[in-house]
Amino acid sequence: MLNFLKKYFFLAIIAIFGAIGIGMAFFVFPNLFNISPNHPGCDTPIHWSLGKIDSRFPLDTKQFRQAAFEAEKIWENALGKDVFVFDPQSSFQIKTEFDQRQQMTYEAQDLEKNIGTYEKESTLLENDYQMFKNQYEKEMNQFNLLKKEFNQKLDEYNEAVADWNSSDRTSTKEYEELKDKEDALKKLQKKLQIASQTVNDTADKLNNLAQKLNIKTANVNKVIETFKEKYGEAKPFVQGLYYPPLQGITIFEFKEKEDLRLVLAHEMGHALGIEEHIKDNPASLMYYLMDQQDIENPSLTQEDIAAYNSVCQPKTFSPIEKLKNYLINTQWKEMKLSKIIDLLKN
Ligand SMILES: [Zn+2]
Repeated sequence: MLNFLKKYFFLAIIAIFGAIGIGMAFFVFPNLFNISPNHPGCDTPIHWSLGKIDSRFPLDTKQFRQAAFEAEKIWENALGKDVFVFDPQSSFQIKTEFDQRQQMTYEAQDLEKNIGTYEKESTLLENDYQMFKNQYEKEMNQFNLLKKEFNQKLDEYNEAVADWNSSDRTSTKEYEELKDKEDALKKLQKKLQIASQTVNDTADKLNNLAQKLNIKTANVNKVIETFKEKYGEAKPFVQGLYYPPLQGITIFEFKEKEDLRLVLAHEMGHALGIEEHIKDNPASLMYYLMDQQDIENPSLTQEDIAAYNSVCQPKTFSPIEKLKNYLINTQWKEMKLSKIIDLLKN
């Protein structure tokens, strides 16, 4: 009888403490009850819905949802199972919030456009410059040929004049020839002057163009520098934010579907339970920078998969967790006192 009472007294104590323990654990460590086997994203897919997609973003709701489906697929193709499922009823919402971040993205795109225009204009100027340079060289060549001819004719004329002076200066024929030479020389001189003027004009145009080109280049470089300073750095994943536990994902900034898809997939990784960023492979989706991932064909790296697996793997349980799991997972009828005592002893 005494033994019997003792036995039930002991059981009652265990039952009371057990109940208090589990009750407290629910309030104090609600997350403990999320570990396997019922961790959403590990054994069951995470349900998500779409919240407000602000119309000031470059994609409409349908296109945005398509990007989210594709982000989902990055995980699912690599893991070979459904880890997300679209469910309009889900309270886990993916949505957007428009603020100065997206505004800055638009500014950056404007700057990029400016740079593009500048570069086009510069190319046109460079073409013009090259054309005038060729023309200048041609004209200079002609001028030099004329100059050579002129000097030759001048020598001949001077010789003829010397001859005339040393003669008795009576030959009409010789005089006429001298006169002709003088006329030819004058004509040639006029030609030479015109050629010189032409070369100078072209040189002026060339200098003007060079100046314009220099100013243009300086401007382009300035804009490019501003752009690099403001927008050129690789971005940490701050374009989106995941609100744990499974409250939602908010997107603040993207340029187009491709970078949105990458940001969504990254934040989805956090939703799957990957809290720490991957440090040793910049191509990983869960790396802290958005830079070296393949934006056109995104996929998981070994490190991403390992991070997922480590989150979803059953942990090694502490004695308390073992007891708790036994109490939770064992049918009341199958529960063995000896097992509970064993677990308590540890
Ligand atoms: Zn992150």
